[in-house]
Amino acid sequence: MIKSILIANRGEIAVRIVRACKELGIRSVMVYSEADQHSLPVKMADQAVCIGPAQSRASYLNIDNIIAAASLTHCDAIHPGVGFLSENPKFARKVEENGFIFIGPKWQTIAAMGDKVEAKRTARKYGVPCIPGSEGSIEDIEKAYQAAEEMGYPVIIKAASGGGGKGMRIVRDPEDFVGTLKIASSEAEQAFNDGTVYLEKYLENPRHVEVQILADSHGTVVHLGERDCSVQENHQKLVEESPSTVVTPEMRERMGSDAVRLFSGLDYVGAGTIEFLVYENNYYFMEINARVQVEHPVTEMVTGVDIIAEQILAASGQRLSITQDDIKLEGYAVECRINAKAPGKITDYLPPGGFGTRIDSFLYNGYMVSPFYDSMIAKVIVRGKDRNAGLDRMYRVLDELVLHGVPTNTELQKRIISSKIFRSGEYGTDVLKHILAEEE
Ligand code: ADP
Repeated sequence: MIKSILIANRGEIAVRIVRACKELGIRSVMVYSEADQHSLPVKMADQAVCIGPAQSRASYLNIDNIIAAASLTHCDAIHPGVGFLSENPKFARKVEENGFIFIGPKWQTIAAMGDKVEAKRTARKYGVPCIPGSEGSIEDIEKAYQAAEEMGYPVIIKAASGGGGKGMRIVRDPEDFVGTLKIASSEAEQAFNDGTVYLEKYLENPRHVEVQILADSHGTVVHLGERDCSVQENHQKLVEESPSTVVTPEMRERMGSDAVRLFSGLDYVGAGTIEFLVYENNYYFMEINARVQVEHPVTEMVTGVDIIAEQILAASGQRLSITQDDIKLEGYAVECRINAKAPGKITDYLPPGGFGTRIDSFLYNGYMVSPFYDSMIAKVIVRGKDRNAGLDRMYRVLDELVLHGVPTNTELQKRIISSKIFRSGEYGTDVLKHILAEEE
């Protein structure tokens, strides 16, 4: 079993991993940038090492410094968390080459799934239904134009190396196709250092539904049901819930077994997610996230499975502590992401509590929210016996949250949770637009 873990991340996910380490009797070592010297995970971990200045490029993305910190502190494994280097195959490879365990899938798997064109090709090979689109990346503008004509407008142009809701452009009019294609490609080049783009049919207002997977190196692959992440702002998730109101037991079974077949084929190890769009009662593969996701607690709350602990077990070469038969979805869980709209000092923070409530955050009174990093400062997660009870609880919990000093999206979250359309369970990824248009 792994004895000490270096956590190559920051913020709430770092706190989450430190907590898991403590429960498992594993020594935790945090890395931190100069801006994060006083951060909560740094205080909580057994040891902490500064790896550079505030700019991520010089610290949380600095592969050599992170590996040096792991050597210096005699760790045997590195957990990349989410974001930063978590899906960087070069990092995973270097970690391995330097004699550490990378807590995640093999670097080759990360590389293959990080290329969305390649990932789709693999999904198709394993019989997983995919969104209709270009076979492979766009090499030839004339052929791509032809392909768009054939699949019918609207279409969406996506960056092969895209992520985080970035690098996507919708085209509704054939006249705009060539121009938008060029813009999309140069944007992708700018943002991801890779101008490769591909084409998909744009599904109007689908649901975003993803399946959580856990796998060990002994060939066990299990799925833990779905999360519905259809409430989005600019293609970024705001609210996540499980189960989804559009997934029937029969669809769950099919999605789950498709996912398990694909991940088995990949010889996947650890935690991963397969993302689908659900449209007119069918689901279509979109992409794989070869890491733990921000919204993993939603699944933990309905299954009782500690996803980070299982990830660490799997990375240690052990068997998962669960089999498919052990996994039962019970009740309902929902997560609201609390984002800071500006940096600043937290003047007053009192996290809510009570039955069925979980707050994953790194805030404390007096903490300075840094301008350098992601704007998410807390995840509010609740469970309930069913969707209505869970959403009533979420409203109560959001209402109870005291968080002063920085502007946040808490009021927007309350509005979402209490809106008629979200409550109805019948909507698509453009639901936020309708909520904002609903009368107060
Ligand atoms: P990222 O990796 O940046 O999160 P995804 O491929 O997961 O990108 O897509 C993010 C969101 O963009 C989806 O949840 C969905 O709302 C929208 N989207 C992506 N592809 C399509 C499509 N073909 N049709 C309709 N919406 C799409």
